[in-house]
Amino acid sequence: MFVRIDRLQVDMPIPKDPDPRAAAAVQELMGGRFGEMSTLMNYMFQSYNFRNKQKLRPYYSLISNIATEELGHVELIAAAVNGCLYGQEPQGDMTEGKASMESLLDMPLMAQHIMFGQGAMPTDSRGEGWNGSYVFNSGNLILDLLHNFFLENGARTAKLRVYQMTDNPAARQMLGYLFTRGGVHARAYALALKQLTGVEMDKMLPIPKIGDIQIPESKPFMDDGYHRKVYHFSKDYGDLKYIWNGVHPDDGLPLEIVEGPPEGGKMNDLEGISEAFNPEYTKEEIFEMAQKLYKAAGGS
Ligand code: MN
Ligand code: MN
Repeated sequence: MFVRIDRLQVDMPIPKDPDPRAAAAVQELMGGRFGEMSTLMNYMFQSYNFRNKQKLRPYYSLISNIATEELGHVELIAAAVNGCLYGQEPQGDMTEGKASMESLLDMPLMAQHIMFGQGAMPTDSRGEGWNGSYVFNSGNLILDLLHNFFLENGARTAKLRVYQMTDNPAARQMLGYLFTRGGVHARAYALALKQLTGVEMDKMLPIPKIGDIQIPESKPFMDDGYHRKVYHFSKDYGDLKYIWNGVHPDDGLPLEIVEGPPEGGKMNDLEGISEAFNPEYTKEEIFEMAQKLYKAAGGS
């Protein structure tokens, strides 16, 4: 089971200006075949269906811990999409029967505005829904790890392309961080495969052959060692030291295991949009009702 922490894995800036085109591109990293919903669900199902969990504990732990981290990556992509859309308000006075949201007809993904409260969708960049057939789980440990290695590098390729498409600060912060984390995941799967088969998969990395060190937005995260850390999200999923050991080739510093989740950054609290009835047309009334409820329950 899971514990939920009301923090993002990293602080996310809220851009000054809305950027719906960047938001549409970032959607690919959410619900595309190589998006975070895919890494999450691939590792989640592989952990659910894992046989001989005790005898193969380090590999079970590896897949389970990375699955948990991917849930936080889904959250981070959602925060980036929300940041990119923030401030893209409907214009004009809706009380006079005018099309006050007409400006939103120009949005690249109208469903973000019509059905998702100007937020992230579980879809790719075309608005196509994430699909369970993106999950591969053969039950053969080597084949599943090989697939995961491929998936992480496919995800990295998509992220590098989105990086080249936009310099939006929310998108770039999320990308700078996720390049380092995806790099850890690819390397961890490579090291697991090396143990099991003797094949030095880690020598293929990075794919594409652009190091995180060449990406300015990744530099601060590398300075903090994020490219060398794996997390034991809880003590139930330990044992990663059997797989994650040695040094990182980028800086020759030791690979690290962190007990517990990352400290993370604050969860953003974006203003509602009355003109789009989000959270309500007359939002003051709903705030007042909530205040009364807190007071009745003994809150302040
Ligand atoms: Mn991820
Ligand atoms: Mn990953």
